[in-house]
Parts: sequence; structure tokens; C-alpha cells
Amino acid sequence: MRQATKAGAGVTRRSFLGGMSAAGAALAVSGPMRRAAAFAMPQSAAQINAQAPIVDKGFACVRKVSDGVYAVVSDTSKGFDTLCNGGFVVGKDAALLWEGYGSPKGSAFQLETLASVSKAPVKAAINSHFHFDHTLGNSTYAVQRIPIWAHEKVVPEIEERYVPLQNRSKADFFAPAETHLRDAVSEDDKKHAEGDIAALKLLAGMLDSNVIALPNRPLLVSELPMKVDLGGIEVVIEAHPGHTPGDLILRIPAQNIVFAGDLIFNHSYPVTFDGDMASWMKALELFGSYGPKTVFVPGHGQICGVEGVELQQSVFGDLAEHARQMAQLGVGLKEAQARYAVPERYKDLNMFAWGFCVDQAVKQFYEAAKAGKI
Ligand SMILES: [Zn+2]
Repeated sequence: MRQATKAGAGVTRRSFLGGMSAAGAALAVSGPMRRAAAFAMPQSAAQINAQAPIVDKGFACVRKVSDGVYAVVSDTSKGFDTLCNGGFVVGKDAALLWEGYGSPKGSAFQLETLASVSKAPVKAAINSHFHFDHTLGNSTYAVQRIPIWAHEKVVPEIEERYVPLQNRSKADFFAPAETHLRDAVSEDDKKHAEGDIAALKLLAGMLDSNVIALPNRPLLVSELPMKVDLGGIEVVIEAHPGHTPGDLILRIPAQNIVFAGDLIFNHSYPVTFDGDMASWMKALELFGSYGPKTVFVPGHGQICGVEGVELQQSVFGDLAEHARQMAQLGVGLKEAQARYAVPERYKDLNMFAWGFCVDQAVKQFYEAAKAGKI
């Protein structure tokens, strides 16, 4: 059955109950947050990460980044409820939520934690982009009538990519990865294909077990960047395509804090499947120009400083160099993708799945090399 719904309409009772466990209790103990007249600048990312989180559920914890700014940091080794990072920003008049997470339980955890630090009304929840791990928990917001904001391309992307797959045969969806497995050219290549199939199964299972609540307030490119005054704290929503065509970031310029969505995968090979590498590298260059004291809340991985941006730039540089060499040697694209080897210096980086992280990046760099652009 087709399960997409506009936010606030048609969300099933089952999804509501599944997502809102314990929310009532958390709401009851909330109190107004006392605010200083001026914001203290945040500590470094390392100092923030060294402090005990304000709450830890295993699958995610919430860290105070600075006055009024909180980050949700996921740990997928302990559960898939949130899957991505997110957070919230609280002023004296209103709060803004960042991300819809991978399930209603994940987004409910964020709402509960917000309620434990502030009674400010929630102005909106923002999806950084359309990916399932950032949007499948939107139904929690929808049933509470919290407006869901996203880049104008997000609803069309969800409708095109996810809605047709829900509770339907996924044979076509799995076919390319299964062909890859059957035609694997090496043991490594076989392992990559198996990893890709496992990732697709995760996505398929999550699509079938959740109700999609679509964002109901598209943010038009023409109205971005958009400033939002929450009362004593101003955030800026900006569009920087790269990871997908509809990426948003949330900046708090006065405190040098950036919620970067999946434009930053800290200490990971980024998922490049829907990416545009040239635009993405421009966004990273921009992040690098924000200054050495900037604190980034990445889409995945620990909170980082500019070193997280630089690590990702160096990973992209390595993928680009590999692709350029392969193109120069006249190696075909498929073989160029299969031949990439993770260098020793990146061995401890995470990777969601090979085909999601390596193949698209190598393809685009390979084509750029062939065209003489890199
Ligand atoms: Zn993503």
C-alpha cells in the first residue's frame, strides 16, 4: 500500500505509538532553560566530545555544543533508531529541530530531549536532505503538527526514489547489486557486492516498516539563505548541493557552529551515490574558509573541527587520483571502480557500503579526467 502522506495527515496510530514511547514523561519534567545575556563561544570539538553527554540512549547521545545548541550523535553499533546525527537549537521564543532520522523512535528521542531542556515551542523540524536515514522518522513530527521544512527538491526525490518501493516487489531495486555479485571479478569485489546488498536490504526493510511523512514546507532556492530568529539566537539555513541535489546546512554564525548534514561524514568514506563531486568539493572548500574555530556537527560520525573537513577532502583527493590514473592507463570504468583499494592511512575509516561510497565518486572523477577537467 502506498504510504506517503503529507505531514500531519494520514499517519497511522501504529506509527504514532511506535514513535512516541516515553515522550509524555519527558515533556512533564521539562523546564525553561536559563539563558546568559550573551552566548559563550563553543569549546573545541575535542572538548565537546570529551564531556559527558546530557543523555545517552546507546543508539544515540545528545551533546551540548554551546548555549542553546545541542547535537544528537548516533552510534549505529548500538542500534539503528536514529541512524544519522542531528540536533536542535533553542532560543527564548522558539526551537528548531534538525533531521528526521531513520525511524519515529529516533525523532521522538530528539523531541524528548528538547523537552527536557526547554519549553520553547518548536517552530519546525528540518530535513537536511531526502535520504531515508534523515527522513523516515518524520511521522513523529507530523503527528505533533510540527512543520517539516526541507529543500524544495526533497519531496520530489522521496516521491521518485522511495514511495514506489514501499511494500512492493524490489527485484529491480536489487538487480544491479545481484548482477555485480554474480559477475564479481575478485574476492574483494564479491565482498563489496555482498556489502551493497546488505545495505540495500537495510533500506528496503526500513522503507517497508515506516510511514513516510513528506516535508510540508519546501524551502525554495530563491528564498535561501534564510535567517530564522529564535529569540536571542539566530540561525541561517543555506543550500549547498553536493551529497544530493537538495542539501541544506544549518549555521549559527555568531557561535561558529555548522550542522552540515551529510556534506560531512566524519572519519568515514562519504556516501557519494547521489552526489555531485565537483559541487561537493566546493562546499567543503567553503566549510574550510569558516575559520579554525568552527565546530561542525556532521551527518555521521563524531562532532569535529576543520580537521574533519580536511580528512574528507583528502579522501576525495585519493579517489580522484586513483580515477585519474586509471583513466590515463586506459583501464575501463568498471575495472577502475573495482581496483580502488583503501590505502593504509584510511584503513580505520568507516564505510557504509562500497558501491554507495566508492563507485559513484570514482565514476565522476574518471569522467572528469577523461574530459581533461582533473
Ligand atoms: Zn545522505
